[in-house]
Amino acid sequence: MRSDVPHPARIYDYLLGGKDNFEADRAAADEVVRHIPTLPRYTRSNRDFMVRMARHLVRGHGIRQFLDVGTGLPTSPNLHEAAQEIAPETRVLYVDNDPIVLAHARALLTSAPEGRTAYLDADLRDPASILESAELRATLDLARPVALTLIAVLHFVPDLAEARSYVRALLDPLPPGSALTITMAPDPDETDPTVGAGADAYRAQGIPFATRTRAEVEGFFTGLDLVEPGVTRTEHWHPDRPVDLDDRHWMYAGVALKP
Ligand code: SAH
Repeated sequence: MRSDVPHPARIYDYLLGGKDNFEADRAAADEVVRHIPTLPRYTRSNRDFMVRMARHLVRGHGIRQFLDVGTGLPTSPNLHEAAQEIAPETRVLYVDNDPIVLAHARALLTSAPEGRTAYLDADLRDPASILESAELRATLDLARPVALTLIAVLHFVPDLAEARSYVRALLDPLPPGSALTITMAPDPDETDPTVGAGADAYRAQGIPFATRTRAEVEGFFTGLDLVEPGVTRTEHWHPDRPVDLDDRHWMYAGVALKP
């Protein structure tokens, strides 16, 4: 693992106030934040969405299994903690391709005894390496519904058709009643103009990055039943507190069920 090259997971950790990052990550994060001063608010809103989404799927849709790709560094509460608070038997397979996430994965393996969590070091761009892994087989039962969660990760796959093909491949073997959750950096023209400069700053650091329109995000859910209110801003998705209508610091978020 090279500490002199910035990594998305460590940049993200720094933005959330964590300590698992190196000088190169902090410099890259500071550069992005110089362009989007409000970036920490995006990441916070995104994590809060993740917790509400997990509770909603467990409570309202009977989901007891999650395949979380692009997990990032452990922060509290993690996905399994949010889900197991309601259903301790919930199982979660975490997947990320960053070596530093692997190094910290132990903090994700704190399942309630009734459930299970596991960590897989794999790449979203190689769906077979996830689907055919021993970790997946040991953790998830593909005969039962699974929620595939891709939270703040698909903007790192800039080619839209390619990104969609990975999502399709991962969703394909999941049975009816399964779910797909996505959050993604929003198109600057539709939302917050500073996001464009932030995306440029990521790219200038050698990290491929794409922003997407609402219609493009909706396209990932073709053939699925979008949960109300559809693709919206992270904070507007089943909010648990009053939402500031003027706030523009959010990503697009959507949750859908497989018919
Ligand atoms: N889902 C978390 C973290 C988002 S940061 C959250 O929303 O809080 C994006 C994460 O995706 C990073 O940890 C990064 O390492 C991971 N990632 C980026 N590209 C990836 C790929 N091709 N395969 C697997 N993980 C990837």
